[in-house]
Amino acid sequence: MDHFAYKEGKLSAEDVALETIALEVGTPVYVYSTATLKRHFQVFSEAFQGVHALVCFAVKANSNQAVLRTLAREGAGADVVSLGELTRALMAGIPGDRIVFSGVGKTPEEMHAALRAGIKQFNAESEAELEVLNLVAGEMGLTAPVSVRVNPDVDAKTHAKISTGKSENKFGIPWQRVDAVYARIKELEHLEAVGVDLHIGSQLTDLAPFREAFAKVVTLVKDLRAKGHDIRHIDLGGGLGIPYDPEQAAPPAPAEYGTMIREVLGDLDCGIILEPGRLIAGNAGVLVTRMLYEKKGVDRTFYILDAAMNDLGRPAMYDAYHAIVPVREAETDATLEADFVGPVCESSDTFAKARKTTPLKAGDLVAIKSAGAYGAVMSSTYNSRPLVPEVLVDDTRYAVVRKRQSLEELLSLDEVPTWLTGSG
Ligand SMILES: *Cc1c(COP(=O)(O)O)cnc(C)c1O
Repeated sequence: MDHFAYKEGKLSAEDVALETIALEVGTPVYVYSTATLKRHFQVFSEAFQGVHALVCFAVKANSNQAVLRTLAREGAGADVVSLGELTRALMAGIPGDRIVFSGVGKTPEEMHAALRAGIKQFNAESEAELEVLNLVAGEMGLTAPVSVRVNPDVDAKTHAKISTGKSENKFGIPWQRVDAVYARIKELEHLEAVGVDLHIGSQLTDLAPFREAFAKVVTLVKDLRAKGHDIRHIDLGGGLGIPYDPEQAAPPAPAEYGTMIREVLGDLDCGIILEPGRLIAGNAGVLVTRMLYEKKGVDRTFYILDAAMNDLGRPAMYDAYHAIVPVREAETDATLEADFVGPVCESSDTFAKARKTTPLKAGDLVAIKSAGAYGAVMSSTYNSRPLVPEVLVDDTRYAVVRKRQSLEELLSLDEVPTWLTGSG
């Protein structure tokens, strides 16, 4: 459930009309809803009542400081994958002991910062990384808490680009090596194995692959404990899907996911960590954009928007479906089919093909829905288009939480050597 709805014919985020924001801040603009973020976090957390669970928001889904602070106030931890994300999480008030550090390529600098912050655990993705982590922790006179990210070789049945739990993916340590790796951790003086970690993919719409992978890990935990490793928790990763297309069956609800996890854990006395990203932020954000032109093609109509693939990359990258709705509620039931496209010079700069829509005209505002996760964070300045702003709504108020990048800011990153300017 989200808090975007028509109020007196105007699509609103909570009690703020998107039109009002578009007029003041300009378009394109990302708009997030506080009530939706909170609700998603609460519903997800409640699914694990009675279980010793830590919910770490996957910062890569939406790393805006205001979003992180909203979730931090609800008690969220953070799953981070870079020094930048770690810094953002700490700045947003998320305590170090609620932060887990994932990712296949952590640098010694990142390890150092994370150790200094006293994070809950490193999710280790390779044997080589563990050796480096041991050295860094040793130099600091500390012990690094680690979970090994295992690759359970399970097909998540999601888009290939966001499937991470098959043996051919770069993620995790191959199942066959896991025993040897935990044995090696025991030998390393500055590492302590505290858990097991996995993450099999994103936008999963079926519980079966989760169940299969989690069951494998439960067996592994018993096995590791029998070998003397003090495994205290399992990090189950993120990946539960969200509804993007209202015509399609909705993915399992958090409560069903929680029930399944309880079943799989059985009487294993073990805490869990969860890393939801999309589920918390995805449907808590929209991208508001203005239609610039209508263009009649040979056999189709193009609606050309002022937003493009550099602002929201999911359709181009993952063939993702995003609902597109008018900001002013349509006064007619008539529909037609149109291709919603952006101005970037790539054919993949298409948000929707042959999409059924009420007729729109140049100047109309539309909202591209479900854009709160993997939206602004993945934006670029391709085609020299400045980064777009982000706005957070809370009830009747709203604030710009990332300002629009100016052209000057964008261009000032370039430096022309003196041999080209003639002054050197
Ligand atoms: C991307 C990612 C997540 C979050 O995935 P969602 O599908 O957004 O829930 C969690 N953990 C890890 C390790 C990830 O890479």
